[in-house]
Amino acid sequence: MKIVVIGAGVVGVTTAYFLNRQGFDVVVVDRGQEPASETSFANGGQISVSHAEPWANPTALRRAARWLLRADAPLRLRLRADPRQWLWLAGFVRECTNARTRRNIGELVRLGIYSRAVLQRLRDEAGLAYDQRMRGILHFYTDPREFEAAHEPARLMREFGCERSIVSVDEAIAIEPALRHARALLVGATFTPADESGDAHAFTVQLAARCRAAGVEFRMGHQVTALRASGTRIEHVEAIDAHGRYEAIRASRYVLAAGSYSPLLAAPLGIRLAVYPAKGYSVTMPVRDTSRAFEVSLTDDEHKLVFSRLGDRLRIAGTAELAGYDRRLDLDRCRAMLRRIEQLMPGAGDAASARFWSGLRPSTPSNLPYVGGTRIANLYLNTGHGTLGWTLACGSAKALADLIAGRQPDVDFAFCGPQAARGASSTSSIRETIPQ
Ligand SMILES: Cc1cc2nc3c(=O)[nH]c(=O)nc-3n(C[C@H](O)[C@H](O)[C@H](O)COP(=O)(O)OP(=O)(O)OC[C@H]3O[C@@H](n4cnc5c(N)ncnc54)[C@H](O)[C@@H]3O)c2cc1C
Repeated sequence: MKIVVIGAGVVGVTTAYFLNRQGFDVVVVDRGQEPASETSFANGGQISVSHAEPWANPTALRRAARWLLRADAPLRLRLRADPRQWLWLAGFVRECTNARTRRNIGELVRLGIYSRAVLQRLRDEAGLAYDQRMRGILHFYTDPREFEAAHEPARLMREFGCERSIVSVDEAIAIEPALRHARALLVGATFTPADESGDAHAFTVQLAARCRAAGVEFRMGHQVTALRASGTRIEHVEAIDAHGRYEAIRASRYVLAAGSYSPLLAAPLGIRLAVYPAKGYSVTMPVRDTSRAFEVSLTDDEHKLVFSRLGDRLRIAGTAELAGYDRRLDLDRCRAMLRRIEQLMPGAGDAASARFWSGLRPSTPSNLPYVGGTRIANLYLNTGHGTLGWTLACGSAKALADLIAGRQPDVDFAFCGPQAARGASSTSSIRETIPQ
């Protein structure tokens, strides 16, 4: 049976891999020349189950009010005349209750732990090397109120099985000695030893090569313009190639994994996905002084930045702007990231050689992705992974391939669509493909 996957980011490529392993004949269609050329290109690199607290949580509205007044705030909202943005914001406000946050953390921790294990198996099986580091993730705090506020979500994560423990400043510096220069700023930390980091772009490009070798076809340079339906089935995908030639690509089933652009392709079919782009930035620079550079992946909660060591490079990523599909680099924001690393670990990186990048996180109000079916019988979704697309990609892909093959996934998660209802357990709820 032939399946078309739309999107060759980390989510689309992992989906293609697991579908191919299930014996399906897979075609991946993407407008880029290479896989992982959009949001999966230069992200924060963290495989972070410990990052399961969604932006929407009981403290979010208080913090947002504070941040709205600051030009350099880690989260920024540019209100637009865009009903999709307002609907998304209304959904976000609904997710800020204690009950929703608890439920969302539970779902993300379950899928995250599963996904991390699937990644580890896949990495060994396929022999992938992508500057991975298995040294845990240390969240550090420089504001006592933020540290205090982190205790409850960390406790919740432990309740759901993620070993995120509270550690003292001395313990944090013992875990990552490069933080010694910042001792006076630190007030505490949490540590999750099982979390990892690695280069999502290198991983995706290598996995795509393995997929090709196993018979997956990649139609790169193809812009999908529409999914054409007849009755309750997709008939074909309409695409335009790099020479402007129109093509109808037919298959028995279709998976939409187009990141922030998924809702634009789903909307004409009457499927409303609450996915909105949240722009983030990253800085990548060579290590200048190894004795000062971090080895363990870090999260700076106050500035909403993550740090990953990728071989002899330092990657710092974060901040979020809800400003539509605009990917322009705001150099002030990029320089603010450089200032922060210089403040914490002076001389660690070669700032003169820094490369800046921006990407659009495909964000849902709850931070839960859409994984599963739709009311169109042969259309499936694997999209909306927001801040955690690299962390959740392998687990989402394996679970979706199981669902498509008619098997019950090995993970309990709020899959979407009628197909999920057959395999759902009592603890997971079935989500509809309407705004959450
Ligand atoms: C600054 C930043 C830091 C991040 N840090 C982390 C982190 O540390 N850990 C983590 O887990 N996650 C992180 N993320 C999130 C993660 O990068 C994303 O969730 C993930 O890359 C999304 O993958 P995707 O495959 O869904 O989307 P993409 O990688 O964007 O892939 C979608 C693909 O669809 C294609 N496409 C779209 N529309 C069309 C069309 N019409 N026709 C043809 N092709 C189309 C695009 O070309 C693209 O290749 C971060 C994100 C950002 C921005």
